[in-house]
Amino acid sequence: MNKCMSCVDLHVHTTASDGAMSPSEMVRYARAKGLQAIAITDHDTIGGLDEAVSEGERIGIEVIPGIEISAEHSPGSMHLLGYFFDRHHPMLNERLSYLQKARAERNPKIAQKLSDLGIRVTYDEVVRASGGGQVGRPHFAQVLLEKGYVKSFQEAFDRFLKKGAQAYVDKVRFSPKEAMRFIGEAKGVVVLAHPNTLGMKGYAELERLIFELVELGLKGVEVHYPEHSALETAQYKALAERLGLVITGGTDYHGLEENKLDIGVGRGEMKLPYSMVESLKAALPRS
Ligand SMILES: [Zn+2]
Ligand SMILES: [Zn+2]
Repeated sequence: MNKCMSCVDLHVHTTASDGAMSPSEMVRYARAKGLQAIAITDHDTIGGLDEAVSEGERIGIEVIPGIEISAEHSPGSMHLLGYFFDRHHPMLNERLSYLQKARAERNPKIAQKLSDLGIRVTYDEVVRASGGGQVGRPHFAQVLLEKGYVKSFQEAFDRFLKKGAQAYVDKVRFSPKEAMRFIGEAKGVVVLAHPNTLGMKGYAELERLIFELVELGLKGVEVHYPEHSALETAQYKALAERLGLVITGGTDYHGLEENKLDIGVGRGEMKLPYSMVESLKAALPRS
């Protein structure tokens, strides 16, 4: 087993979003791997945090409350990681339930659009296709395929489900400003996740964007990430240092990777020291 004693991993998903392990399984796994601290950063939800934190206290590993928020951005995607916030803060909870409600309304809207196009796919059929888990566009694709409306998943997305297609419904997202506001209100700290997905053309454009985010309250950059090339890692590190931002890292481990990626160590190249956690704590808003 590839262990990393006293390392940390600041980006991990559980079944509260799209991971394969329950929050407590993930915490036990991290402990078995010798990690000193992990942050649970499920997509747009803090639903796994209570369980993870208490399991961490029980078995003796630091569990940092976290979240990964998808923010409005183009052309690529922007994910913001929040850490150390008060997970019981009313504004944080209100904002996240608003988001969940908006998301829950999205799938019935897709079903309605399909029906308006004369396609007989009911929302109940899509829910059944999801097998009881979170419903998403792949389940619509599956039903479209089963009923013979399309010949492949790809065709289902191209004709009906992808952005701009006939039955597409926009996902509700927070602006970066809004996401930073409620995490800041809850006394948390915000870090820009995996900058390589932002779709920025070159270093100067990226620098401008990060600078704007800093003005909104950004405190760190996820420099160390399995999908960053050596060059990207070096660039993001230089940028973070120049702007006085905390350098963090994480594996984005979901517990179902088939490509040898593992918690704490990535593909063997990662060794994230505990000092990252201390730097994050030092960047927290004072009250
Ligand atoms: Zn992400
Ligand atoms: Zn992630």
